[in-house]
Amino acid sequence: MDEKIAKILVIEDEEDVRESYLDMFEFFGYEVDSAPNGREGVVKVTNNDYEIVITDLNMPEMDGIEVLKMVKKNKPYIEVIVITGYATLENAIKAMKIGAYDYFTKPIDLELVKIVLSKCIQSIKARKENEELKTLNQKLTELNELKDKFITVTNHELRTPLTVLKGYLDLIDMFLPEDSDKDLIEALNISKETMKEMVTIIEHLHDLSFFDYGKKNYTKNEFVLTELLQTIYNEMKVLFKNRQIKFNFTLEGDPVKVVGDQERLKRSLRELLQNALKFTNENGEVNLIYAANNRGKNVFVKVIDSGIGIPVDKQDMIFEPFYEVQNSIHHTTSKVDFMGGGIGLGLTLAKQVIESHDGQIVVESELNKGSIFTVVLPFKNSIKN
Ligand code: ADP
Repeated sequence: MDEKIAKILVIEDEEDVRESYLDMFEFFGYEVDSAPNGREGVVKVTNNDYEIVITDLNMPEMDGIEVLKMVKKNKPYIEVIVITGYATLENAIKAMKIGAYDYFTKPIDLELVKIVLSKCIQSIKARKENEELKTLNQKLTELNELKDKFITVTNHELRTPLTVLKGYLDLIDMFLPEDSDKDLIEALNISKETMKEMVTIIEHLHDLSFFDYGKKNYTKNEFVLTELLQTIYNEMKVLFKNRQIKFNFTLEGDPVKVVGDQERLKRSLRELLQNALKFTNENGEVNLIYAANNRGKNVFVKVIDSGIGIPVDKQDMIFEPFYEVQNSIHHTTSKVDFMGGGIGLGLTLAKQVIESHDGQIVVESELNKGSIFTVVLPFKNSIKN
């Protein structure tokens, strides 16, 4: 609403005074209308859209207090300013108590009117913006609920056919004679690999809906972090070898024990390595580094790759659900290929898991040079203690 086009209704029984008020408000740039008494004023309020009603308090027929009550009852968003003489100031105070925005005393001070009207318009504007924000917020909440519902339902609906498919693939695998056609065996292996990828996606969706609903049912245990990292390294090194990417595991500092959900932390750390694998070219290098300092309280796990890097302005976004820097159409479907499959959930979940362990995940990256993902976790004690 523009201050210039705010519409004011003036209710005043004395014609000369009314005309002078109209001139004054018009002079200040407002659109004005008038009524000679309270009753007509109330009818006009019902039939028109005004932002402000300015009414004399002392009028025959229907006085300003009655007008104020009627306006606030029918159109509470209209601001009402009352006009009174010094002798009847207590009426103005009464009006304020029942919802008037402000009052003017006669004779009206031009400067004061200008300031009060401008303040009033600002407050109407702020209220309208606030209402719009509330509506938008409500819509966002609804959309978010819809998204949660979609994820949960999709996840549930996909699980059953996938379980059936997996069961049949396992059966075929079991009964396929060893001397079968090479192409047939390869086709089966590809189907099994693809099945695994689909299962991972479903697990991600499942975890995401779990987190969104705040049910993080963790199984927390005490374990030695270096042992977990060693297991991850052993499990994944063949994937790097297949892509001719150098993969090193370095220990800097003594092993420490952390308390947490080992399985979830393992998945989160694997996610970082999986990304390093996916976004690094053949002949590149990936380093998994464990760094602990006995005097400190935190242990650091770094995944450093010499891959494609992430533009600075996208580095915050990559932790948002379903966000991918590259156009996903160009991705291959396999999770081990260069720029391979994914749906932009890995880092979201990894971050949630790590933060639920009072840890942090930080990214540093330079385009075409590589990325460093650092996981910081609090540790319980050194295993030497
Ligand atoms: P996705 O499963 O699609 O990889 P993530 O949540 O794990 O989803 O990652 C989100 C996006 O962040 C990726 O699609 C990629 O664009 C970018 N990204 C993550 N890790 C790296 C990395 N090591 N190097 C370059 N880009 C990365």
